[in-house]
Amino acid sequence: MKQLKSILLVATALLVTVSLNAKPKIRIIATGGTIAGVSTTSASSAYTAGQVGIQTLLDAVPQILNLADISGEQLVNIGSQDMNDEVWLKLSKRVNELLNKEGYDGVVITHGTDTMEETAYFLNLTVKSDKPVILAGSMRPSNAISADGPANLYNAVAAAVSPNCKGMGVLCCMNNQLLDAKTVIKTHTIDCDTFEGGPSGIIGYVYNGEAHLLQSPINRHTKNSVFDVSKLEELPKVGIVYGYANASPLPMKAFVDAKFDGIVLAGVGDGNFYKDVFEVAVEAQKEGIQIVRSSRCPTGPTCLNSEVDDEKYHFVAALDLNPQKARVLLMLALTKTRDWQEIQKFFMEY
Ligand code: ASP
Repeated sequence: MKQLKSILLVATALLVTVSLNAKPKIRIIATGGTIAGVSTTSASSAYTAGQVGIQTLLDAVPQILNLADISGEQLVNIGSQDMNDEVWLKLSKRVNELLNKEGYDGVVITHGTDTMEETAYFLNLTVKSDKPVILAGSMRPSNAISADGPANLYNAVAAAVSPNCKGMGVLCCMNNQLLDAKTVIKTHTIDCDTFEGGPSGIIGYVYNGEAHLLQSPINRHTKNSVFDVSKLEELPKVGIVYGYANASPLPMKAFVDAKFDGIVLAGVGDGNFYKDVFEVAVEAQKEGIQIVRSSRCPTGPTCLNSEVDDEKYHFVAALDLNPQKARVLLMLALTKTRDWQEIQKFFMEY
């Protein structure tokens, strides 16, 4: 009996030591992008995104094995200019499964940079976990001189294993910086230093394999989000209309004729329409197509009832969201309600 007790004690001690020393379990989901891109010559700027598979990405950064127990899967292999609702739904469901059912401690998603901010925001609103979810990409293809992908991937894994990144919502990790899903924007077409956090700046940084956080997001996200896509196979149809001097109303009309559920205006200034476009928007709203006013200006909010009387027309003001993120929130909002005031409330909270 005594012997059995001591065997049990040793076994328990061994188990505790093993689990204390166990590295966090991190899953990498690859979706393509320039990080998986290949150029014809290493000095050329011409390349094709989404060419190499996940194993090649992992092989380029063997150092990540020191940070975590890594495994990976290839969800799609596309340039993120081809990102769509179907992939978003698949990705969100998969991340929820990995974090809530399969016991992973965090997820890293490799992604093209063109629409990374939209995917990050979509996941920020639909992932039901406070575990780290980090998106990483690169501006230079995998075989370029001084490719930035390997360092970005290494930093993303460092962020995914960090307790500091828990409860921060979905983050993007690029160029040693951590950016939060709501405010992150791609600002430069080709530079490695392309992602910025808007007026609130970056949320943190990663140096020497450690994530340091400077602030936390104040908007609702992940576990505190009401949006649930677990049973959805498609999303409401929402298009974006760009504003400019002497703008044609045709794009807005085309969305109305195609029976879109919502239209976001990338308006001039504080979300203003050209008069011909405004007329179509008023009619569209009357027909039940939700109009959201955002702005083509890179910074500053689109204010409610400011230059446009939203209350009168039942338009929604996008506030701090740029047009592409306003589109994401409007699609999800329309899965819940068609009431413009409820939708405006979502824009205030998320
Ligand atoms: N077109 C590429 C993409 O978004 C650009 C990049 O990844 O940097 O997939």
